[in-house]
Amino acid sequence: MICLGIESTAHTFGIGIMNDSGKVLANKKATFTTESGGIQPSKATQHHYLFWEFVLKDTLKKAKLKLSDIDLIAFSQGPGLGACLRVGAVLARTLSSKLSIPLVGVNHCIAHIEIGKLTSGFKDPITLYTSGANTQILAFASGKYRLFGETLDIGVGNFLDSFGRDLGLGFPAGPKIEQFAKKSKKYIELPYTIKGMDFAFSGIQTKLRQLINSKDFNKDYTKEDLCYSAQETVYAILTEATERAIAHINKQEILLTGGVAANKRLQKMLSTMAKDREVRFDTVPFPLAGDNGAMIAWQGILEYKAGRSHKPKETKVSQTWRTDQVDVNWI
Ligand code: AMP
Ligand code: MG
Repeated sequence: MICLGIESTAHTFGIGIMNDSGKVLANKKATFTTESGGIQPSKATQHHYLFWEFVLKDTLKKAKLKLSDIDLIAFSQGPGLGACLRVGAVLARTLSSKLSIPLVGVNHCIAHIEIGKLTSGFKDPITLYTSGANTQILAFASGKYRLFGETLDIGVGNFLDSFGRDLGLGFPAGPKIEQFAKKSKKYIELPYTIKGMDFAFSGIQTKLRQLINSKDFNKDYTKEDLCYSAQETVYAILTEATERAIAHINKQEILLTGGVAANKRLQKMLSTMAKDREVRFDTVPFPLAGDNGAMIAWQGILEYKAGRSHKPKETKVSQTWRTDQVDVNWI
């Protein structure tokens, strides 16, 4: 079985093609970026309308396939930005109807977990899912991916992007902050905001903004120092919460997934912790870390094979569809 997956929840319009042995046949994307400022939903939507056809053709070309070779269409039904989600939903419904093949709407966050399970070979991990809008610690129990901890305000990626915006870095700022952070070892004290298993980032963002606007900026400390301190603080918080989760439930694997999983410092902190606890650790490979169509295609295959498909009228997008609301029928 060959599935074409469509991703359009926010900044990225992606199409991936996977087969049911778990092989990525192609995975192409176009990502909305800025020189300064963040993602404006209307501009990201416009971006997706401009690029969908190019990405579709490029993906098929890379996979050396025609549309008539596809057996199943999957798309991100939520959560995400409404107008962006609808671009993918309309394309998915159209392709399914034109090709007379089944359609599956999948939860984007779950797709980030399952693609990581596929690449790591992990069967039952604690997952730290770190992306732009979402940051959650999850594990499977009694038919659902249950939340063991999550951000109380913004996702860690949004935190990095907002902090980066204050430094004039543009979107996405996470990779640029990682590079600046490498040039410093000077830690500037920031709030350490963890409450039980949950955590929050907006207070740290406010403190960083105050430090950027202070007369001491570029005298007592530099942007490199702030990038270093921001990374050390938020990644320590995520590692601490994940360690608590693994200490409380008897799992033997830790999986890191989502766009921020590309960060080497976060990977290092988690792998050190996993080693200390004698559990296995793995990170989703870079091309599958940030939003992409291949993970949506894989999720479509898992759900379709377990008996799920949708009529077009059942595929209304949901901006707020939570990970722990999905009935997991494929495990
Ligand atoms: P996603 O929504 O899963 O595609 O993740 C996008 C987020 O990942 C954005 O907020 C990026 O700033 C962030 N990101 C991408 N690469 C890195 C990196 N190397 N370090 C930290 N954050 C990153
Ligand atoms: Mg994502």
